[in-house]
Parts: sequence; structure tokens; C-alpha cells
Amino acid sequence: MKLIYSDDHRDHAGAKEMRYDEMIPMSESPERMDMIMEALVNAGHNDVVVPKSFSLEAVYKVHDPAFVSFLERAYPLWEAEFGPGGYATAYTFGMRGMAQAPNQSIHSMLSCYTFDVCVPIVEGTWKAIRSAVDVALTGVDIIQGGEKAVFSLCRPPGHHASGDLAGGYCYLNNAAIAAQAHLDGGARRVAILDIDYHHGNGSQHIFYEREDVFFASLHARPEDEYPFLMGYATEVGKGDGKGYNLNLPMPKGTDFSSYVLALQVALRRIEHYAPDVLVISLGVDTFVDDPVGGFELQSPDYSVIGQMIAQLSLPTHFIMEGGYAMEALGTNVANVISGYCQDG
Ligand SMILES: [Zn+2]
Repeated sequence: MKLIYSDDHRDHAGAKEMRYDEMIPMSESPERMDMIMEALVNAGHNDVVVPKSFSLEAVYKVHDPAFVSFLERAYPLWEAEFGPGGYATAYTFGMRGMAQAPNQSIHSMLSCYTFDVCVPIVEGTWKAIRSAVDVALTGVDIIQGGEKAVFSLCRPPGHHASGDLAGGYCYLNNAAIAAQAHLDGGARRVAILDIDYHHGNGSQHIFYEREDVFFASLHARPEDEYPFLMGYATEVGKGDGKGYNLNLPMPKGTDFSSYVLALQVALRRIEHYAPDVLVISLGVDTFVDDPVGGFELQSPDYSVIGQMIAQLSLPTHFIMEGGYAMEALGTNVANVISGYCQDG
């Protein structure tokens, strides 16, 4: 399987995040990609492709251009006020009863376009965001060229970002941009299977009223876990999209014997939907030792996940999302890909 990777994510680094009542170094770090690439190459997956450069045209199909412009300008505006070396982060949020239109102040834009304190913007963030989109769109090209499967090693991740809102380490929604590009390239229907530990609230929101993208997510239930306000099983889509959104929330402590049943449900629904392309939002923060997660999957379980996905025999576009247990991260990701290739 071809891997699409660029080093251009590397300068998206150095900020801290608030985890409940403490400030800690960002769990979402450049070293994550080093661990993943090393494990993939060691497992024999060494067909690494450099991404092509794309315009923002495909991004604007999913994201508000004003939001995209904010992401590009945020750091320079912040630096103009505070000097170099820091990171832009919101002080307030545009909550209920507040105006939703930002003025030209960077603080107003951060309040309007971010929903938590986990999306710091450093000098290298925009370059990384653009690169992650190029990595995703290059994968679309490769699938359209006839490859059965491809892995876009996107960083930063994307599934928490909606059309005009960044949060949860996510700025632009790489999986949603890719899904839309697959449709624009000729696919009639696309399914997104999100197996990150956290609910893919951004992807759900983007496609919630559409029937041409089926979104299925396995995740920790909102009673237990971020983003706390979305991810319920009752969220099934709206309007034309009714019946095309599947949430399978599970309690903290879920192990693979329960998880695999939910995965079977999602795969059966995808099979019934019969998409032309399957996009996998691949998060491995479901691992037992993940510092951000709370499920109890073990490393060999990821091979089984890869095999089960392969059994659908669909053109499959893997897109990297979360996973933060540094020692096992690479192995877990490589196991999904090896499991897929073994059975595909
Ligand atoms: Zn996650």
C-alpha cells in the first residue's frame, strides 16, 4: 500500500494544552509521525509517496473560506500583538446568546472559529494544515488512479473540525475534504468509518444532512469523553441525511470483545450502503495504554480491525487521526495496515 507523507507538519509543535486543571505539552506531537513511519517501514510498508500541491478549491467545498482565511492569518496576527514564539489560542468562545460574526481582532476570530483550547496555532501550524490536506488529496488521486488502498499520513488530524470550527487538535477536516473530493472525482457514494476513540463530531456535522456520504463512528460515549456533547446513538442524520449517520458509543473500559461487535455493526451498514470508496478515519487512541483514551484494545487487535475492513473489498483510503501512546502507536497503526494488506 502506498503511504503519503510529508515532513511539512514538523513545525506545528511547541505549544501546550490544558488538560482539565493543568497545562501540559501537546500530546499531538511531530514525534507521533516518526513512530508511525518507523513502524510502517519496519513492517515492510515502504512505498512512500510525496504529496502533490493542491489549491484550496477542494477545501472550500467543505470549509467556510472565511474560516480557512482565519487559520492562515491567525499566527501573523497573534505575533503582531504579542511578538514571536508564542501560540494563538482563544480567550472566550462564541457560545449561546453571543454574536457569531467575528470582527478583525484575532481574539474575536479565535472566539468564533475554535471551540476548545486544544487547537493552538504556532508559526508552523498553517504549513502543516496545508500539507495535511495535500497528503489527503494525493490519496484521492491515487485511489482514482486505480489503486485499491492508500494511507494518507495526515498531521494535524481533522475529524473534530467542522465547516467553520476548529477543536481537538483538528483544524481542517482531512477525511471530509477527501470524501468530498472522491465524490467530485466520480464516486457516487462515499462512506467514512471513524475508528478514533473520540467521536468525529466535525465529520458528522459536515455530512449530517446528506445521503451521499454515510458516516459511521465507533467512540467513547459522550457521558465519559470528549467532545461530551455529541456522539449519541440517537444522532442518525437529518433531512436527506436521515439514516446516513451511525454512532456506536461505548463506555470507558470497553475491550475488544465488545468493540468488535460494534465494528461488525458498522461494517454491515457500510456494506449495505455500497459506497464506491471507503474513507477510514484511523485513530488508535483506543489502545489500552493511550494517555488520552480509555478503551482497552491491545496491539494484536488492530491487525484484526485491518482484516475486517479489508473484507469489505472496497477501495479504501486510510486517513490518520489520533493515537498518543508513543511506545505502541507505530505498532498499532502498522498492524491495521498489515492486517488490511494480509486480507485484502
Ligand atoms: Zn481521538
